[in-house]
Amino acid sequence: MTFAEIIGQEEIKNHLQSALQQHKISHAYIINGEAESGKKLMAEAFVAALLCAEEGIESCGVCKSCHQMLTHNHPDVKYVIAPTVDEVREQINGDIIVKPYSSKHKVYIVEHAEEMTVNAQNALLKTIEEPPEYGVILLLVNNDQRLLQTIRSRCVTLNIKPLRDEQIKPRLIETFHVPDYEANVLTAFAQGNLGRAVRLAKSEAFVEARKDVMRLSAKVTNMNDAEAIELAKELSETYKSSRKKQTYSKDPNATEEIPDEISLPEFLDLLVVWYRDVLLYKASQKTSGMIYSDALHQIRTQAAKLDYETLEWILKSIEKTKRQLQSNVSGEVALDSLLLSIKENY
Ligand SMILES: [Zn+2]
Repeated sequence: MTFAEIIGQEEIKNHLQSALQQHKISHAYIINGEAESGKKLMAEAFVAALLCAEEGIESCGVCKSCHQMLTHNHPDVKYVIAPTVDEVREQINGDIIVKPYSSKHKVYIVEHAEEMTVNAQNALLKTIEEPPEYGVILLLVNNDQRLLQTIRSRCVTLNIKPLRDEQIKPRLIETFHVPDYEANVLTAFAQGNLGRAVRLAKSEAFVEARKDVMRLSAKVTNMNDAEAIELAKELSETYKSSRKKQTYSKDPNATEEIPDEISLPEFLDLLVVWYRDVLLYKASQKTSGMIYSDALHQIRTQAAKLDYETLEWILKSIEKTKRQLQSNVSGEVALDSLLLSIKENY
């Protein structure tokens, strides 16, 4: 884990590397970014360099400390996951007073810190306010607004930014050997999150969702009401309105399992991408920039059949359905009304 291995995030890397160069390390950092955006990689690249015997701005990868980092066995690096108030007291506050074993620093990487209760955060606050000279605490959060203002004001916050599509697509093709047409869909869908793109590249559920999008768009033109209602029911059983709340182990060596499922809002995003392709093809007759480039025949047929007004209207209806889901309309009801109204407007 080195800074060089991390794609993009130049601002954060520059900040941390200049802190390393000037030996001006803060006692507390917040690394803020959505799930799968690479927060832990960034934290570990920083800590590896910080503790490396070379004392440079990048870890050497070969010294004893670097080895211990790579095997998650460093005596001066503690992983703490969504700690309760008692765990904060035991694993951080009570532990940080013991001097580092072999390094100049003692580091705590707190994952899922946004899950900490107010009490747990208040317990941590004391240590963040008066840390020992060698103490460094990294809070990894999906949403920094869930941390108390008093914590946030004492930490340096580093925000993970979405990557550009040009940074994601080549990586999928080169490193994960994803075919070009699939890389387009994954990139469009990942919205700047490489971790998500990589997960979806291996996902069976994603492949099925793509097929369902094509099936729906082909079928919706010649369905009767009963068939539309049946399809809505079937899709709402496959694609749930919200993801199951992710569970995570308190064991830092356990790999995080994200269930292989596509949520209904994600399915609707795929549907939006489909109709945008149809619109794009209708307007330009070009296939460059097309996401579902493997389904050209079907896109062409629909582009010929649908006028601009209907396409705009369908895209708006899908967005409306997404909003309904946010206000807790059931998936089946929302899909029902979407399919019936698309069908009527064809
Ligand atoms: Zn090293």
